[in-house]
Formats: sequence, structure tokens, C-alpha cells
Amino acid sequence: MKNQLTKILFYVFIISTLALPQKKETNVLYQYSVINALSAGVYEGDLTVNELKKYGDFGLGTFNNIDGEMVVLDGKIYQIKTDGIPVEAAKNLISPFAAVTFFKSDTNIEINHPQTLQQIKEKIDAAVPSENYLYAVKISGEFKKIKTRSVPKQQKPFPDLASVIKNQITFEKERVSGTVMGFKMPEFIDGVNVKNFHFHFLSKDKNFGGHLLDFVIEKGKIEIGIIKEFRCQLPSTENYAKTKFVKEESYLQNK
Ligand SMILES: [Zn+2]
Repeated sequence: MKNQLTKILFYVFIISTLALPQKKETNVLYQYSVINALSAGVYEGDLTVNELKKYGDFGLGTFNNIDGEMVVLDGKIYQIKTDGIPVEAAKNLISPFAAVTFFKSDTNIEINHPQTLQQIKEKIDAAVPSENYLYAVKISGEFKKIKTRSVPKQQKPFPDLASVIKNQITFEKERVSGTVMGFKMPEFIDGVNVKNFHFHFLSKDKNFGGHLLDFVIEKGKIEIGIIKEFRCQLPSTENYAKTKFVKEESYLQNK
């Protein structure tokens, strides 16, 4: 009798555990592959969009064959190819590089007058408590003008990323509402991720986006989440295993 009760209680426990929504840890970075691999032409990963969503609702990346820019915002993943138009990514699309987190803001800064990307970067640098942590950064508002880019899909043998970026397609837009998402990374991350700033953009109407090159923001807000924990998963593909990495160049930097 006692045994049976224990058994019932055990099953009640299991069922109630399964019914609970999984607790999502905020501001833990999940990164797939390393930037040195992408720089060297590792454009074949084995992480699906569906899997990536389990690790974050905010971030950026790219797709296999470097087929456009990836933006991750509010739990949705978009692909922005060289036509500059975001399309929600199919669940089975695969990524060779991505960085995501469940975003939670620790610091909010209001933007009340027009400022350049450079001025916003300086504001963020001044606002963070330390150079030695990672930060998720979200900038939302009205942009006076914004410039983004995407890159054309590649075929094997893959050229390195610098060669691909030489053929980037840039887009410019004036008077657009939207969100810039990305990261501010410490110097020591060099090679693993992009040091300093890396941002992507998605317009509020979901009609425009890409890897951010420049902007002037009219008004809005900056939200910063401090990241003290990160996890990096490396691809199991032959392309990853067999490619010789090179030292990361500064062409990914939005200086
Ligand atoms: Zn990018």
C-alpha cells in the first residue's frame, strides 16, 4: 500500500514537472561555431533554426552557404538575403554561425535627440560597468537613416569571408522604425566571436533589415543585458573539421 502511494506520488511529480514551462535563463550567451571558422570559410554547420530557438530569443547569425544575414528577435528568426527583405526562416534551415540569448535588459538609456552609430557606441561604452563582460544590446526607435548589408550565397569551394564581403550588397533607408540587435564583446573574445560591436537590424514592419553598417537614430532607447556566462557549441561538419583557420581580420568590425 505504501509502495503504491509512493509510486502514485512519483508519477504525479513527473507529470507536474513535465507540465511546467521550462525556465529560460536570461542573458546566457549560446554561440554556435566560432568567428575564426566563419572567417576561414566554414559555411556549413549542422544547427537547425528550430534547435537554435531553444537557446535564445534574441541575437544574430547567418545561414549555411552564408545565404544572407540572420536576425533573431522576440523568438522569431528571419533570413535577409541580397534583396534586403526579411523572410521568416524555415524550421529546418541550417546555420554555420549564430549567437543568441534570452534577452533581459539591465540598463536602459533613453535617446531623445539624433545621434550617429558612433555616438551610440560611445554611450554604450560609457554605460557598461566593465570592459570584461559580454553584453547583449538592443537599440529600438525611429531611425533617420540606416545602412545595412547582406552577402550572396556561396558555393564550394568556399572563399574566405573577406572575399565574400567584397561582394556584399548594401541597402539604405530613411525614416524607418525598428530594432538593432547584437552584442558588445570584450577584447579577449577575439577569434571566438567578433570583438567590440556587432549589430543586425530588423524594421518594425519586417520589410527591411540586414547586417548593420551605419545609422542616425532620431529617438528611442538602448537596452543592455550583461552576460557573465556563455556556452559555445562547435559544428560536427567535415567543413568545420577540415578547414584551416586564419587569424581574424578587422573587416567584421563596425568601426
Ligand atoms: Zn553580421
